[in-house]
Amino acid sequence: MSVLVMKFGGTSVANLDRIRRAAKRVGVEVAKGHNVIVIVSAMAGRTNELVGWVEETSPLFDAREYDAVVSSGENVTAGLMALTLQEMGVPARSWQGWQVPLQTSSAHSSARIESIPTDNINAKFGEGMQVAVVAGFQGISPEGRITTLGRGGSDTTAVAFAAAFDAVRCDIYTDVDGVYTTDPRICEKARKLDRIAFEEMLELASLGAKVLQTRSVELAMRFGVRLRVLSSFEEQSDNAGTLVCAEEDIMESNVVAGVAHSRDEAKLTLISVADRPGIAALIFSSLSEAGVNVDMIVQNISEEGRTDMTFSCPTNQVARAEQALDKAKEAEILNYREVIADTGVAKVSVVGIGMRSHTGVAAKMFKALSDEGINIKVITTSEIKISVLIDRKYTELAVQSLHDAFELEKAV
Ligand code: ADP
Ligand code: ASP
Ligand code: MG
Repeated sequence: MSVLVMKFGGTSVANLDRIRRAAKRVGVEVAKGHNVIVIVSAMAGRTNELVGWVEETSPLFDAREYDAVVSSGENVTAGLMALTLQEMGVPARSWQGWQVPLQTSSAHSSARIESIPTDNINAKFGEGMQVAVVAGFQGISPEGRITTLGRGGSDTTAVAFAAAFDAVRCDIYTDVDGVYTTDPRICEKARKLDRIAFEEMLELASLGAKVLQTRSVELAMRFGVRLRVLSSFEEQSDNAGTLVCAEEDIMESNVVAGVAHSRDEAKLTLISVADRPGIAALIFSSLSEAGVNVDMIVQNISEEGRTDMTFSCPTNQVARAEQALDKAKEAEILNYREVIADTGVAKVSVVGIGMRSHTGVAAKMFKALSDEGINIKVITTSEIKISVLIDRKYTELAVQSLHDAFELEKAV
């Protein structure tokens, strides 16, 4: 029998009433003859609350206990969803990650899925169970400890289940009715896209569009999962929402598919480092050993054998980065004058596979920003995206002006 995966995000299971609404949608798919695997998130706001409790109890927390606490929100919704379905007369039961068992790496708080055995759940489907409700975002490490997959990780749980069970589709139910040209909360002209290519979605997600966790798009692309994003608040229909699909399945794509932003950015500049082979390797190996995720990197023109090196990283890693650089200086591994941290920046990016064959996208982007008097601090590009770092206070203005410049209000 065909398996369908349906994932409900936090706002879609925010209270008992919403859980009932979500369960009704599941009931409709069961009535069509699918066996359904439902992946649930924690109730809206719950994961933030749990993270807050951990940080208040222990600022330098043990990541294994962080995962034990933070994964618990999903356990509640999984049980409640199974109970709601049973009340509707649909045979259902819940699974926590370890019961499947969804095996992951030991990288607590950002673990990677390693395997999902299907026999356990398939055996229950064979016995007449119609819905398996699985707690998203969590798994079990080789050491037998509970792990979590990083914020937004239930999307990845859903896609991984769809791949493992060879599901007909993976439907991600959320609080917007699809993937938009940009975050509809900050640009009212944002347009919903009927389709978006995996590559574009991957870039948008990794550049801050949190509608899907990046890793979920990566998995969908690798395993050819039919991935759909849709609203749990609107009428149910077979072609609602946005289909994330292969490039070949899109008739004609726009040069720019969307604009993404991330406010969680900081810029650090090392002033006056030696300009000679090996220095960049030293700087960035010190940072990586300290667990700093470096994103953009720029090296300035050198003068008299010295140069400045600028990089960006998430705001909550600035202290760690400064500490790592200090340590390297003290140990006389690195020599620089000072580190200047700017924690008031944001990254705004335009993404589109059409950029491979069109010129002028960068020029248009920079012109649109300069027309608004927005100064660009750092630029990076890849084949299908251009990102800039700007003052955080201009984030919304930048997104809106880029949306206008690329006429995304006409996108479909
Ligand atoms: P869930 O709790 O269902 O997982 P999330 O809050 O993680 O939902 O993701 C949905 C949110 O993603 C939307 O409310 C929207 O503000 C945001 N978002 C950012 N960029 C986009 C985009 N391009 N298209 C749609 N939503 C976006
Ligand atoms: N509840 C987790 C979070 O808020 C996972 C998810 O919702 O995808 O990050
Ligand atoms: Mg999410």
